[in-house]
Amino acid sequence: MQSILEAVQAGATGDELASIPLPESYRAAIVRREDAAMFEGVASADKDPRQSLHIGEVPLPEIAPDEAVVAVMASSINFNTVWTSIFEPIPTFGLLDRLGKESEWGKRHALPYQVVGSDAAGVVLRVGSAVRNWTVGDRVTVHCNYVDDQDPSAHDDSMLGSNQRIWGFETNFGGLADLTIVKANQLMPKPTHLTWEESAVNALCNSTSYRMLVSRNGARMKQGDNVLIWGATGGIGGYATQYVLNGGGTPIGIVSSPQKAALLNELGCEAVIDRKAENYRFWSDEHTQDETEWRRFGKKIRSLAGDDPDIVFEHVGRQTMGASIFACKRGGTVVTCAATSGYMVEFDNRHFWMKLKKLLSSHFANYSEAWEANRLINLGKIQPLLSAVYPLEQVGSAALKIHRNEHEGKIGILCLAPTEGLGIDDPEKRDRIGEDKITIFRRYGG
Ligand code: NAP
Repeated sequence: MQSILEAVQAGATGDELASIPLPESYRAAIVRREDAAMFEGVASADKDPRQSLHIGEVPLPEIAPDEAVVAVMASSINFNTVWTSIFEPIPTFGLLDRLGKESEWGKRHALPYQVVGSDAAGVVLRVGSAVRNWTVGDRVTVHCNYVDDQDPSAHDDSMLGSNQRIWGFETNFGGLADLTIVKANQLMPKPTHLTWEESAVNALCNSTSYRMLVSRNGARMKQGDNVLIWGATGGIGGYATQYVLNGGGTPIGIVSSPQKAALLNELGCEAVIDRKAENYRFWSDEHTQDETEWRRFGKKIRSLAGDDPDIVFEHVGRQTMGASIFACKRGGTVVTCAATSGYMVEFDNRHFWMKLKKLLSSHFANYSEAWEANRLINLGKIQPLLSAVYPLEQVGSAALKIHRNEHEGKIGILCLAPTEGLGIDDPEKRDRIGEDKITIFRRYGG
């Protein structure tokens, strides 16, 4: 692996990289099948990813004709790695077993361990015989939509593919490792002005927010829209805030600390609600929601934005869905992609139907949406959310920080990259876009 790293750092050509033999095994962050019941009886908040995420050597599998081997310079922690590592809502090994039954190549995935991780930036080391658009030596980022393109259901919008999966969550050989195996249709060009770790944090969250707000499959945000964003400095919220600002809308960002409020202001979001300071109690007990709190919340939004939100960017789930549906404007859209606080959501249907609101589901992004979102990063119109960087050995601590909501934006993980700051291909472009803009989350993350 050392010779691969040295060759990448020396700017080796594709031919030179292709002549370096691949190792038989590689370093990876894994969860183990035998641990799947280790947190039984433990409260969700007390489950510690440091106990379940291990660094180990795993064999490098053979690649299918439509796949590539990528040397991972950096990766990132996504919330799905938190879910995998606490085995909630279900252990992911059942998903690997299902993939294992699907095809000969699928069998490789059903293993006693899972290499996790759904983001990566790195260099292509090998391509399968059916790969056309990518060659050894290409500098890439990886998006996580894993699609079987022989399935007709995947050919309108690939997120509708009946066996669509998320790489590194519903598949093995994910990105939190020194090497990864991906389908060629997961590859995208690495933004030329960013470091490896800045390039590695975007694909999953940025593409998700792009689909939710900008794409025709999402809420179709338009100029002048008021958009209420939960977790507005979090992984998907930080990109959502930028999309609203870029698209001529008004973000109303909800966060939980003065520090995050200041970060939002610096991003250009003026309407900010600190939910902790406001002390909203949408649930008066485990079974009852409090409409007076929804009204207090709605009043606060109107005081900041002058109107109700045209779009609510939802992902918190049970704790907030009732308030989101209530606060949304007549005829407006609540778009949701997740349920961090619980997936059994409740809302008052009267406020929903009488005011002709819409509830729209969204999940990651198809290749075209991910490509567009990546292009906006490469143009410097959307900035990476990198706020902190950990070495791969500390992947459990990084996941714990996200599980405990002690972070801003995204946490990057150095895999093969020995230090931060490497991988910038176009320093002039970086200067043009502005170091201050690119590193805004890093300054707040410390
Ligand atoms: P994140 O970085 O942890 O950000 C989520 C933010 O939500 C937190 O920073 C927090 O912000 C806010 N939040 C958490 N609990 C809350 C509560 N009880 N009430 C109000 N706000 C709360 O996570 P992320 O990467 O943005 O992901 C968010 C969710 O989306 C996760 O569940 C993830 O699995 C899911 N997701 C889904 C997809 C998909 O394709 N379907 C893609 C990406 C992410 P404050 O504390 O500042 O308010």
